[in-house]
Amino acid sequence: MAGIYIHIPFCKQACHYCDFHFTQSVQQMDDMVDAICEELKLQFDYLEREAVHTVYFGGGTPSLLNESQLKRLMRTIRFEHDLSSNPEITLEANPDDLTPEKLELFHQHHINRLSIGIQTFHDPHLKWTNRAHTSEEAMECFYNARKAGFENISIDLIYGLPHQDHSLWKLDLKKIVRMRPEHISAYCLTIEPKTAFGKWVERGKIADVDENYAAEQFEILLGAMDKYGYEQYEISNFSQPGYHSQHNSNYWKQEKYLGVGPSAHSFDGTFKQANIANNAKYLKSLKKGEIPYEVMHLTEEDRINEYILTSLRTKWGIDLERLRSHHEIDLLELHEVYLTDLLNRGMIFIEDDFITLTNNGKLLADKIAADLFVFTEL
Ligand code: SF4
Repeated sequence: MAGIYIHIPFCKQACHYCDFHFTQSVQQMDDMVDAICEELKLQFDYLEREAVHTVYFGGGTPSLLNESQLKRLMRTIRFEHDLSSNPEITLEANPDDLTPEKLELFHQHHINRLSIGIQTFHDPHLKWTNRAHTSEEAMECFYNARKAGFENISIDLIYGLPHQDHSLWKLDLKKIVRMRPEHISAYCLTIEPKTAFGKWVERGKIADVDENYAAEQFEILLGAMDKYGYEQYEISNFSQPGYHSQHNSNYWKQEKYLGVGPSAHSFDGTFKQANIANNAKYLKSLKKGEIPYEVMHLTEEDRINEYILTSLRTKWGIDLERLRSHHEIDLLELHEVYLTDLLNRGMIFIEDDFITLTNNGKLLADKIAADLFVFTEL
């Protein structure tokens, strides 16, 4: 199940917590779209002509794309790559961009899944995190998207924010479950050093995320999702039956993907590569017909540990047979004492040769994964 990721590195304004690659000077959007189309052409056989089942416009803010830009991108994808007959085509959108006209445009161009960055319905928090929309716009764009015919909508939420007490978080969840999106991604705030929040923490202006408080909010989230029929198929991702993000599930299952645009990553099944995270250098290289990327040399140990980290976060869990057959690693034998302890403490299940996390285990997912890492080079 190969996929294509397209990074649109522009945003109207910088959210205070965000460390993704983007710029606020949108004048170069046209040139960037041309360069991305050029990269899509140059990479015509990166996926070895496998059928492309998912396309994901991420960023940055892909909802800033205008009609001609989106048309060029979609045409190039179709022309240069082998799109399957019914691909999942997702576009990340911010509520303030989703006018009825824009929604119509996306629908006409075969975008069939929207991922809307609502984050919270609490206006003071939206303002404080420097989001460009209001809670009213968030609500309105969702129903307009329904009217425009979108039947697969994902909503992004954030928790663990300073001053976001449990009652506000519960209110956000109450509003979201009433809207009944097909998919919900809920992420705990992480303070990254180069963001505005990172600097504020450094200067003592705000406190870092309180892990215990955030863990309580995670438990509130799990309770609400379970009550309203959303399946948790990855630590931060919940869906109604049949509405998993196919694109992201492919990453977690280590399927092939081609990433185009500055900072985008690609994986051909063996090697990973990362495009340069610099718009000017990216544009300059593509003008010369060169893709500015670096191959990320992953050792076998890196690949095993990445598999453990990502798969343990999913409902499918770690496939023990896959580790045996692909890497000759018997995780049960290697971590027998630790796994027995986790079982006794009710943190994991081991069934049918898979290790999955219980709800208690999910609170410590990354720590447990790190403890299960394999050190083949020693
Ligand atoms: S969170 Fe999204 S909209 Fe905000 S700065 Fe980051 S990429 Fe842009």
